[in-house]
Amino acid sequence: MTEKHSEHDRSVPPPRQRPVVDGGFSTLSVHGGEARSKPLDAITDPIVCSSTYTFPDTQSVIDFIEQKQQREEYGRYGNPNERVVERKLAALEGGQEAIVFSSGMAAIVGLLMAKLNAGDEIVFFDQCYHRSREFCFKHLSRFGVVTHQVPTGDFAAMEAAITPRTRLLVSESPTNPQLTCIDLEQFVALGKAYEVETLIDATLATPYNLRPLDFGVDYVLHSATKYLGGHNDLLAGCIIGSSENLQDIRNLRGVMGGINSPHNLYLLQRGLKTFELRMERHNQNGLAVAQFLEQHPRVEKVYYPGLPSHPTHEIAKRTMRGFGGLITFLVKDADWRETADIVDRVQLARIGPSLGGVETLIEQPLVMSYYTCTPEERQRFGIPDNMIRLACGIENTEDLIADLRQALDG
Ligand SMILES: *Cc1c(COP(=O)(O)O)cnc(C)c1O
Repeated sequence: MTEKHSEHDRSVPPPRQRPVVDGGFSTLSVHGGEARSKPLDAITDPIVCSSTYTFPDTQSVIDFIEQKQQREEYGRYGNPNERVVERKLAALEGGQEAIVFSSGMAAIVGLLMAKLNAGDEIVFFDQCYHRSREFCFKHLSRFGVVTHQVPTGDFAAMEAAITPRTRLLVSESPTNPQLTCIDLEQFVALGKAYEVETLIDATLATPYNLRPLDFGVDYVLHSATKYLGGHNDLLAGCIIGSSENLQDIRNLRGVMGGINSPHNLYLLQRGLKTFELRMERHNQNGLAVAQFLEQHPRVEKVYYPGLPSHPTHEIAKRTMRGFGGLITFLVKDADWRETADIVDRVQLARIGPSLGGVETLIEQPLVMSYYTCTPEERQRFGIPDNMIRLACGIENTEDLIADLRQALDG
């Protein structure tokens, strides 16, 4: 075998097929990335349960290795259900290509591990998913990558933290749980000025509400466990960007193995069919419930980017189609126990972590995600004892409000 053959990377990208249809958002949710004609004339894609794929003869193997033929080889490098979901996600996000991972965290870890080398630095806005922070400070650091965290939305601080070794600027938008929206024009301009790539974790926005690639962001990342899957029944993650930028991430994923089963991908594809319909209701519920909470005498403060009182409302209004279903609020004059009592009185919403599913979820961040942190750490991360996070599902708005009213009045 020649050198070229032995170095052939088996993580071939999905065939670059144009979307079968073009059209509005819901049309793309239903048909995007799917073939018109499917096996056995089925309207749905079959779940292809195969860990390996066979070749008719040796020449077919050689043709595949020499990249003369695009096809499946072994399940760690991809499967037919994944190809369809990746094309659908790329279409919804307006990107060239998508890569799907087995969870949002696998996607973040995969991207950072693929792009960074020892000695490199990244700059992160400080309001972020706590496991992303943990990965950077506890694990990336062991490989000699330095993470700088700067106050969210403070571009002067972000600029000051950039050095000749900076490789990536990272933010969420909106952030979790304060729902700060980032001015993506400024974020991208800073990256371009210093020739540093940019990554937005847009899990809370979804491509329905915000399309960061349109602003020139290099990588968009989602926990597809949330709104994209939408039914609290699967874990997945994805990254969308240019094919060129995604190639080394795909190669690393083929080695890491953080891939989804065909069954899981079928659920994600099915969930995506109703994506626009669900987002319309999440946006409607989020805004109505936030407005209700803001006028309730037991509520001290509401964080929701759709409210004029939110510090980044102007950015949100300018750049987003809607503001999602996640609301964070503080209970007036309440200690942690009185706050917990309100959570415990809620009947319709279920107590649990996560967001973006059809079922409304409620949690007290102090207890759910930050219980083992010191009070100083919680203060630094902006998690007061009287904070409640509510992830509105798609139930009827009036039922959600009635439930919260009895819990707050109780
Ligand atoms: C949930 C979440 C993640 C992690 O995703 P998983 O699918 O749970 O691994 C990352 N970022 C944000 C903003 C999230 O909400």
